[in-house]
Amino acid sequence: MKVITRFAPSPTGYLHIGGVRTALFNWLFAKANNGSFKLRIEDTDIKRSTNDAKEAILNGLKWLDLNWDEDEIYQSERINRHKEIGNELLKSGHAYKCYCSPEELAEMRERARKEKRAPRYNGMWRNKDEKEAPEGIEPVIRIKCPQSGLTNINDVVQGDISIKNNELDDFIILRSDGTPTYMLSVVVDDYDMGVTHVIRGDDHFTNTFRQKQIYSALNWDLPIYAHIPLIHGMDGGKLSKRHGALGVESYDDMGYLQEAMLNYLLRLGWSYGDKEIISREEAINLFNLDSIGKSSAKFDLERLTSLNAHYIENKNNEELALLIKNFYKDKKNIEISVDDLLLIKNGMNGLKSRARTINELAEMCSFYIEKAPISLDKKSKKVLNNENISLLRLYYEQLSRLDIWKREEIEEDIKIYCKNNDINLGKLAQPLRAAVTGKSVSPGLYELIEVLGKDETLARIKNINN
Ligand code: GLU
Repeated sequence: MKVITRFAPSPTGYLHIGGVRTALFNWLFAKANNGSFKLRIEDTDIKRSTNDAKEAILNGLKWLDLNWDEDEIYQSERINRHKEIGNELLKSGHAYKCYCSPEELAEMRERARKEKRAPRYNGMWRNKDEKEAPEGIEPVIRIKCPQSGLTNINDVVQGDISIKNNELDDFIILRSDGTPTYMLSVVVDDYDMGVTHVIRGDDHFTNTFRQKQIYSALNWDLPIYAHIPLIHGMDGGKLSKRHGALGVESYDDMGYLQEAMLNYLLRLGWSYGDKEIISREEAINLFNLDSIGKSSAKFDLERLTSLNAHYIENKNNEELALLIKNFYKDKKNIEISVDDLLLIKNGMNGLKSRARTINELAEMCSFYIEKAPISLDKKSKKVLNNENISLLRLYYEQLSRLDIWKREEIEEDIKIYCKNNDINLGKLAQPLRAAVTGKSVSPGLYELIEVLGKDETLARIKNINN
């Protein structure tokens, strides 16, 4: 059996962390089993679906390289097929027309409330003759659900769970305007797409008992279900914006790498022993549904950030330089020159272990892009007081005579100068760093002076004035 999974988001809001994790698990399970991963946009709720939300879903998945097989499917384009199946169920006697008025339904609810039962449709039109139908009312179509016994779902994550059939009622599959309900559409689409494994959030678990009734009535094989516990905030509450539950594209915007994001999402509810760092390729080899945890995972931005730092540190300099180039182009409208990009690449080893996000790294790289006179941050300005400026001016004379512009030689030169002039190394290094970078925190001083080159370094020192 070829494994077919699907991600079925509704384009009614941004693609959030929970949604992407569902997509990732479906994608991984398909890849792990040489199967297909399909995308279905559930856009039948016309009022709440937006084109922006749809774009955000497609872009979010593309950012993470969670590519889907074949073209995406739009549920709204399949409504006739859903209606066809709804009517088939009517014809075969598995469904019936219900002419209940809103008042009658309200009364049923009220009675249930008084008798402390869950509000359920009481099946009043199940066996009624259509001749009794009131005039001018378009009926809804309800499916006949078993009234006794149990319905059982053997879920890979939740386990073997049964509910009493008297907890189910004859739910609507076609509305009075003929449009299908979500319950019907989702079953028909999963069946037609050949979905073998439905991996989705456990907020859909209770729907599964109803969806199973449709499968049974149609004599269709039930897919395998895996309902993943939802993601909560660190305080255990439902994940909200306050917890960092932003659209996934915001993380791209904040400078998170896709590989860090994927690794983080993978570990959010799935584990492989204590292994924390898992690449995409490893994940494809290791992923299975059995290791999805049963309890809800907590979204921890700190953890994501430290994974991001790990991936930045281990990424090659060429690729990082390219990300920095894009950052300046997209966010600051600055086109980095080929020469400056080379500086950035050459200086990357000293920077990448210090950055937690690409945005931080890009900011750190700014002193490779600026040209003398460079801007100074507050602390640097403070460091560059009159006394220190005089110190730098004096040292400038010696430094300008240095021929071999390599970090060892630069270090040697500074040390000798300090020794000969009986000053503490830090006394000179601190203003030198401030003058050359404009920042009080930067990579190794000798390395960055080497990378910047002699002309630019000297120009920066010379340009310092009070
Ligand atoms: N469209 C549903 C949602 O976004 C998912 C349906 C499903 O996975 O079966 O919550």
